[in-house]
Amino acid sequence: MTVPTAPYIGRFAPSPSGPLHMGSLVAAMASYLDAKVHQGTWLLRIEDLDYDRNVEGADMAILASLQRCGMHWDGEATWQSRRLPLYQAALQRLKDDGLVYACGCSRKEIADSNLRAGVTKNGVAVYPGTCRHGLAPGKEARALRLRVPQATHATYRFIDRWQGQQQQDISAEVGDFIVLRGDGFWAYQLAVVVDDGAQAITHIVRGADLLDSTPRQLYLQAVLGLPQPQFMHVPVVNNELGEKLSKQTGALAFDTGMEAATLLSAALLPTARFLGLDVRADNIDDFWRQAIPAWAQRLSHLPK
Ligand code: GLU
Repeated sequence: MTVPTAPYIGRFAPSPSGPLHMGSLVAAMASYLDAKVHQGTWLLRIEDLDYDRNVEGADMAILASLQRCGMHWDGEATWQSRRLPLYQAALQRLKDDGLVYACGCSRKEIADSNLRAGVTKNGVAVYPGTCRHGLAPGKEARALRLRVPQATHATYRFIDRWQGQQQQDISAEVGDFIVLRGDGFWAYQLAVVVDDGAQAITHIVRGADLLDSTPRQLYLQAVLGLPQPQFMHVPVVNNELGEKLSKQTGALAFDTGMEAATLLSAALLPTARFLGLDVRADNIDDFWRQAIPAWAQRLSHLPK
């Protein structure tokens, strides 16, 4: 097992919209193993800014599940809802740089203009730039949007450690995107970039459902003067209908009252196999003892 020497700070950043389930366990395990293989730090951040989707008690349930699985984070866990001044300061900087404008468009209006602008890979309408040069008369500001570079300057390229070479033309494929939502909630894209910067994260390991967000985050890092971490997007677990496993699609919490051995075979072993790790443990300590070198081995087989 080769151990890189550069400092490594990773993180797992679950949203408390439900308990940890098989889908989120994949992201947790991959980011934990990657930090361990690099002898790095692994931070835990609860991303609880979407107050409509937060489920009461889910944050503490996630922390407890991670502990039960033997995934212990470094330092204190953080909650985004306790860090609001950081997002405000970042927004102020973007405003001072003339990069933010008020948008009065409803979702329906944006969807109706799809014919012109198209839809993103996630099926969300590309923002056609309607309010870029000012709110239309009679429209009220709803959200704040960030101007993205146009045409030839809008393509962001990066090498994903799992998925390989990626590129996205943000202006054509997403459009100017929201940093402060119409309901007053901070947008995920802004908050995640501000926190990854503030916590000096060097490596982001998370589910491939967020691959599409990465160019927006690279752009935000650039305009906020933050360093760029390395990215790795691991496959996401789908249910039989091909939907990403989540609480909404019926994933079960796996750990209520389970003993270590049951937990291992019910959650940890299948998760490791899903990530391509050959581990055959019968207790949690043994599992991690095998999984860490297995992850190092797995990394050496990823496309260069
Ligand atoms: N909070 C996000 C989620 O649970 C993950 C954010 C990230 O890892 O960048 O899907």
